[in-house]
Amino acid sequence: MARCDQGYLCEVCGGEVEEIVDSDLYLAFVLGEVRAEWLLDKPERHIRCNAERAQYVIDPEFPPVECPGFFDKRLLDAGYVAEEEARVTRAWRHLVAVARRGGSVFDSPLI
Ligand SMILES: [Zn+2]
Repeated sequence: MARCDQGYLCEVCGGEVEEIVDSDLYLAFVLGEVRAEWLLDKPERHIRCNAERAQYVIDPEFPPVECPGFFDKRLLDAGYVAEEEARVTRAWRHLVAVARRGGSVFDSPLI
């Protein structure tokens, strides 16, 4: 997904992933789960379409996502959930900060 490109469609809902703050792939990159050189080979998704991860983004600007089923955070260990919320929310806010600043996520270490 890149702002100047097109054709990065969400593999879940089929819609275009238009903004970096909607990109599950970029979120995974910020979280250190995907290497930059792998980004082009990975299927793109909206963050909200990956409920298993999206449920951990806790921010007034991010509509809450529920993940019913086995990975529902309400069924998981509270300590683990708190850590994931801190980790994923921090990464998402980093994407927001990069988007507002207009730079590249690759030049912006997670702070
Ligand atoms: Zn989607």
